[in-house]
Amino acid sequence: QASTGGTAVHDPARCSQVQEDSLLAWVDDLHAALAADDQLLLHFQPQHRIAETGTGGVATVVGCEALLRWEHPTRGLLGPGEVLRAAEHGHLAAAVTERVLDLALGGAARWWRDREVPVAVNLSATDLDDELLPHRIADALERHGVPARALTVEVVEDTLMLDPDRALQTLTALRSIGLRIAVDDYGTGYSSLAYLHRLPIDEVKFDRSLTAGISADPAAAVIVGHSIRLAHDLGLSALAEGIEQPADLDLLFRLGCDAVQGWLTGRPMPVHGWVTALDLAVPLR
Ligand code: C2E
Ligand code: MG
Ligand code: MG
Ligand code: MG
Repeated sequence: QASTGGTAVHDPARCSQVQEDSLLAWVDDLHAALAADDQLLLHFQPQHRIAETGTGGVATVVGCEALLRWEHPTRGLLGPGEVLRAAEHGHLAAAVTERVLDLALGGAARWWRDREVPVAVNLSATDLDDELLPHRIADALERHGVPARALTVEVVEDTLMLDPDRALQTLTALRSIGLRIAVDDYGTGYSSLAYLHRLPIDEVKFDRSLTAGISADPAAAVIVGHSIRLAHDLGLSALAEGIEQPADLDLLFRLGCDAVQGWLTGRPMPVHGWVTALDLAVPLR
């Protein structure tokens, strides 16, 4: 909207040029980050089983998710958004995934001998098109000396729907190495378990948009409750993301949800903190 008499006239051509320039600067920064060894790092967020203990007790750690962070030399600690945007623009997605796998499995190697807690890594749409990915993952597992069951890969529901045949092919190859496969952000897209169950998947992760505040949202509770039963009938486990409130955890427990991941039970944390946290029992209240 051009303002009348103001200076803030919107010029789409100029604006996109500016965005382009700054994107290129981000790509340069990402090249530098990949060349450095301390800029890209992972924070680990715990996943807890709730089905066996219920709430008010102590939950068992059953996994963790590796979440990408960028310790940018001038901008400070950034989330995955900036990395992924620059990676896509600069065709660096495969290099970023390679680094993430290396960091995640390097991390797992530190705790696996004591605690067999798998680490989940997020894959992007580009990764699913990469025919070498299964080889790369097998190499990384061998390099770090951890078994395939130490690694879960998370694929966003919508990505699977972009090219279902391709997804089936890649996931089948990843499954054949022995990895666990989770469908991320479930419930945000247009797919259904009726379709997804044709893919070799082990777990559905219900998106925060469905699960946050679920105890005050009867319709969401019905949807998630039915979806959990459907998942179980198909032999899949169900994890709820983004749980911040005890009341939501209570309800998910009653709905039969297997596991939770959220600020209530643990924030994403640097690897040192995570390895320490692994030894501590987590009270749910
Ligand atoms: P995601 O895979 O669904 O990861 C969960 C996101 O929710 C994370 O955000 C996490 O910090 C946040 N979260 C966890 N519990 C809570 C909670 O209780 N409340 C709230 N409000 N948020 C919570 P993050 O780390 O910013 O990551 C955002 C997304 O970026 C991820 O969503 C994932 O899709 C993507 N991502 C992260 N790391 C990687 C990576 O290494 N590779 C790729 N390709 N994508 C990644
Ligand atoms: Mg994820
Ligand atoms: Mg998610
Ligand atoms: Mg997400």
